[in-house]
Amino acid sequence: MNEIIAACGLICSECNAYKATINDDMNLREKTAEFWSTIYGSDIATEDINCLGCLTDGIKFSHCKFCEIRKCCEIKGLPNCAHCPEYSCDKLYELFQHVPKAKIVLDSIISNIK
Ligand code: SF4
Ligand code: SF4
Repeated sequence: MNEIIAACGLICSECNAYKATINDDMNLREKTAEFWSTIYGSDIATEDINCLGCLTDGIKFSHCKFCEIRKCCEIKGLPNCAHCPEYSCDKLYELFQHVPKAKIVLDSIISNIK
């Protein structure tokens, strides 16, 4: 499977919301909803776990749908923040604190395009 990278550097193709959606896997949806509700301290329902990836036209998980980083890349016409002259901006700071791997992914893209 080709890797699908989100605007922010998260890897959508490794995300459980993506996997549950493309495989229509209710068990994975339930487990993901329970886990994300715990770690994000919010009430995420099983039916909310539907996403075809950050920059695709299809359905998106609610947080990613309204994500400012995603919107910013869309407005600038960029596939992800690694291609932005303003990288790394304040919008990415909090995400990188929670998911350092996203920064590693974007930094690696930058080193490959230089
Ligand atoms: S956009 Fe969807 S697939 Fe990508 S990280 Fe967010 S929830 Fe997961
Ligand atoms: S301004 Fe920030 S959030 Fe927007 S595309 Fe550039 S690096 Fe990403």
